[in-house]
Formats: sequence, structure tokens, C-alpha cells
Amino acid sequence: MTYQNFSLSQLQAIDAAHYLHPFTDHKDLRASGARMIVRADGPFIYDSEGHALLDGMAGLWCVNVGYGRHELAEAAYEQMKELPYYNSFFRCATPTPVLLAKKLAELAPKHINQVFYGSSGSESNDTALRLVRHYWALEGKPEKNIIISRNMAYHGSTVAATSLGGMSGMHEQLGGAVPNIKHVMMPYAFELALPGESDHDFGLRAAKAVEDAILEAGAENVAAFIGEPIMGAGGVKIPPASYWPEIQRICRKYDILLMLDEVITGYGRTGEWFAAQSMGIEPDTITTAKALTSGYQPLSALLVGDRISKTLVEKGGEFYHGYTYSGHPVACAVALKNLEIIENEGLVERVKNDTGPYFAKMLQERISGHPLVGEVRSLGLMGAIEIVKDKATRERFQPEGSAAVVVRDHAIAQGMMMRATGDSMILSPPLIWTRETIDMAGDRIVKALDLALADLS
Ligand code: PLP
Repeated sequence: MTYQNFSLSQLQAIDAAHYLHPFTDHKDLRASGARMIVRADGPFIYDSEGHALLDGMAGLWCVNVGYGRHELAEAAYEQMKELPYYNSFFRCATPTPVLLAKKLAELAPKHINQVFYGSSGSESNDTALRLVRHYWALEGKPEKNIIISRNMAYHGSTVAATSLGGMSGMHEQLGGAVPNIKHVMMPYAFELALPGESDHDFGLRAAKAVEDAILEAGAENVAAFIGEPIMGAGGVKIPPASYWPEIQRICRKYDILLMLDEVITGYGRTGEWFAAQSMGIEPDTITTAKALTSGYQPLSALLVGDRISKTLVEKGGEFYHGYTYSGHPVACAVALKNLEIIENEGLVERVKNDTGPYFAKMLQERISGHPLVGEVRSLGLMGAIEIVKDKATRERFQPEGSAAVVVRDHAIAQGMMMRATGDSMILSPPLIWTRETIDMAGDRIVKALDLALADLS
């Protein structure tokens, strides 16, 4: 039976009766019914009513090669026929994840040569947390186990990933986080810079908050610092250029591992294969997922630097950790083909040299002057539009976040899928967007802002 046998209202009723959605107010969902997305092609998604929407979010920050890639379906089909599944526990392996690991080592920064697979970003952050603590235990320093993170960080939804994250609402529902994780200020100048403070100085001050937390806990007790190079779900918050190099310096000074969460930024989004390269830093672990398969299969890869993997090998002993689907051959076959597409079509270079700068110019020239817009920011094909009530004072509409929802709803009605996070309107489109697609997005966003202004005035 296919969905075409059901009307939209029938599907919505079944959905409401049986399907608990992630990150959803279920009372609201019952009242409004879900928007049913039924197919997709290139940069467009289509709902059950036949509306075409330009997908400004690449699904959930993941469909980097766009929709309708039959090569990816064929790669999955071929692998399923040959070997649909076997595990890699207990000294077994299957060839496809092995070859993918080699490919990832080639793409990653030079000092990263090993991979640990999972099926989601959250799982891989759990792996990362356990791995860095295991590393220090192997090094004879088990007390070095505190992880420093940031307020508003998003590292996923499992208990460990929620604990690593800095979302207060999520923590409130957790009923007890994983211990020994501390949170410091986020590097978001628009909201937190002092009057007259330059971006450069603010970046150094935000990094100093990490150093202060290390000194307070005692460096001998701190295992690692974790951060998204650009905070994604927290509102595409791009730190000043001074921030990451200073974080790297601090981590080295106190012998603390640097864990980078590139679940969103990995595989080309910032105009480099990894944002570590955009920021000029050398993390000890890089968490990746999402665009590794462009979302066509669930797969994550924790990229592990030589320092950690050398200790694992030299000290030996089993790392009691793994998932049934670690290194799933079908997901890995899709990932290999997806990386081949990104390479063959030169998508990373295109973001760096053409569409990324053009996207920034569009935001600057067409959006930033709008009366509802406090600032625009972007790197590569990842950007945000900050909604404010008063441009000069940066005063927000009340309650916070309500105005962005008005803009988002108008954007969707204009055929533009965007996300509202707090007062930030988020864009993270497929990397196949061209200058024409960016112009189309600009037209629709300007209309949505104008309509929202009329509503909010
Ligand atoms: N880390 C970051 C930076 C993310 O943005 C996300 C998801 O959006 C995750 C981790 C969690 O990934 P997943 O939803 O695949 O568990």
C-alpha cells in the first residue's frame, strides 16, 4: 500500500494517532497536522498538496548533493545484493567501510587517519566522549575527565550528547546530566560583545572563558574542550576569526584534547572539506554525520587523530564500545558514492570560490538593510538572518523567537523552506545551489520579510 491511497487529512490523522515526532509539541501537532513532504528533486521538496519549496535547509543540514541522485540509490542496491549487513565487532570487517575509512583519512586533515562509525551525530558524540576519557585512562590519568563545552551548543539528543550540549530546555528535561561536563559562554558577538569591544577582542574574551574554566577545574582534571566550529542549531553563530586559533593555543598550553563537532560543517559546507581547515585548527577528534551520505542513509564517522589512535594501539586493551550498525556496509557504500559526487562536481571548491561569496553578497546587499534585520552572517553555504524589532538598539520582539516564526511561516508560504531558531532565520542549503538558486531564495526571503513587517508593525 502506498501513501497515494490516502488523503492528506487521513495521513495527518494516522500521524497524530501513532507517530511521536522528534522536537515537537505534540499538542500543537494534533491541532495543526503535519506538513507532509512526499517527494523531492534537485533543490526542491514537494508537499502532498503539490507545492514546490526551495529547500533552504538541505533537509536537516544534510542533503549536500541535493535530491534525486539515482547513483546513491544504485550504490545502496548493489551493496544490499552483495552483502546487506555484517558487523565489524570481534575482529571482523567488511570491505566497504574499510575503503570508506581510507577515503576519509585522505580527505581529513593530515594528522587524522582513523575512523569510528555510528549511525548518527549523537552516537558519534557519545563515542567521542567515551573515547577521550578512555584515552586519558590509558595514559594513566583517569582523573583527567572533565569536558568543557559552551552554552547553546548542540551536540545531539542522546543522554551524553544532550549533556555535552548547552541547551537549557534540553537539560531541564534530562533529570541529571552525565557528570563532569562544564559549560562556558558562547562566542556570539552580536549578543555578548561589550559596548565598543571589537570582534577580535570579543573572540579572545570568549576563548579566555575556556581558559578560566580550565584553571578553575585544574588542568590535571580536564580531558577536552568540545565545540561546533559554527554553532548550528544554536543559531548559526559564527565566532570571530580570533576565537578558534586561541582555543587551539589554550588546549595545547594545558594539554587538553580538542574535539570538533562538524556534524553540520563537515563535507564542504564552509567551502573546505572540514571547517577545521577553514578555521586553521588541528582537532584531536572530528565528529561527522549528515552530509557524509547527504542524508540518503544514516551514518556517522568520528574522525580520530593520530595522538589518540596511537595510544589505543600501543597501550591495547578492549574499548568496550560499539553499535550493531557501526560501519554498516550499505550506508558506507552510499557515503563513498556521495563523496565521489561531491568531488567530481567540485562542490567544495564551488562553495569556496563562487556560491559561498555570492550567497554572502546576496544576504548583505538584499537582506541586511531590511528594517526587521539586525545582522546577516554566513560562511560558505551556511547563514543566518537575525530578526530584531529595532535595528539601532538590537531590541528583540517579545516573546523572544516569536517574530522569526512569523517570518518563517511567510517564507514557507512563498515557497522557501527556512528554519527559525530563537530570533535567527537559518539557511543551510544543498551545495548544488547555483547563483540562480541563490537569487530565487533572495526574492522569496525579501517578500517574506516584507509581509512579516506588515504583520509585526
Ligand atoms: N552535532 C551537531 C552539531 C548537530 O547539528 C547535530 C544534529 O543536528 C548532532 C550533533 C546530532 O546529530 P544526529 O541528529 O544525527 O544525532
